[in-house]
Amino acid sequence: MGGVDVAAALAELYQLQAKDLELDQLEAEMKRLPPELAELRKKWEERLDRLTELKEQLKQVRREYEKNDLELKDLTAKRTQAQEEQLQAESAREVTQYENRIQQLSTRIDELTELTLPLIEEMERLEAAIKELEAELAELKPELERLEAENEARIAELKTTYEEKRAEREAMAKAIPALVIREYEAIRRARKGIGVARMVPVGEDRQAFRCEACSVQLPTHVAQKVYQGRQLVRCPSCGRILWKGP
Ligand SMILES: [Zn+2]
Repeated sequence: MGGVDVAAALAELYQLQAKDLELDQLEAEMKRLPPELAELRKKWEERLDRLTELKEQLKQVRREYEKNDLELKDLTAKRTQAQEEQLQAESAREVTQYENRIQQLSTRIDELTELTLPLIEEMERLEAAIKELEAELAELKPELERLEAENEARIAELKTTYEEKRAEREAMAKAIPALVIREYEAIRRARKGIGVARMVPVGEDRQAFRCEACSVQLPTHVAQKVYQGRQLVRCPSCGRILWKGP
């Protein structure tokens, strides 16, 4: 890297990384839902799902009830008509025919009424359950809205801090050769956010060093190259850029 002061660039890069890690943390905080809100959202959604389910059930029962009701009205009208016609009957035979018809209609009306009564009870039960759920939701709503608003304000505040730090970061990045930044960023993406690592002495005599990030001891010639600071040297074990440290 002709003309570039690698050691100076790496010192700046290390500071840049500290800023990047702060940004990562802010991003994670923004995404983290407060437990209170998460719990309440869950409660809210469970009730809402249940409400949708009950309303669908009610719709089906009501459809069935209305179908029966329509048929009952039809049968009742037919029976009334038969009763009226029976009064006009001109022979005993005809009277008996009407009697049979009325009897048949009555039987069917009774059967259908028997089938319809439980539907009415079911509709009443569902309507009561729906009302209860709606009341529960109405009770949860203000607290949920309060927590949602609080969370939005929290995120907005973090976002402001994030944008400020992001601008600082961009200014810092401008002082570092683009090639170094690109390599650092590629490693950072692949290596859990750490792209540059210091060499840390092993023992008191500072003769051997290990990589700060992966802790593997570095071969002497690698450590020497890092100290010379003439090129970018990567840890042979984890591939991160090595900096000799301050
Ligand atoms: Zn390493």
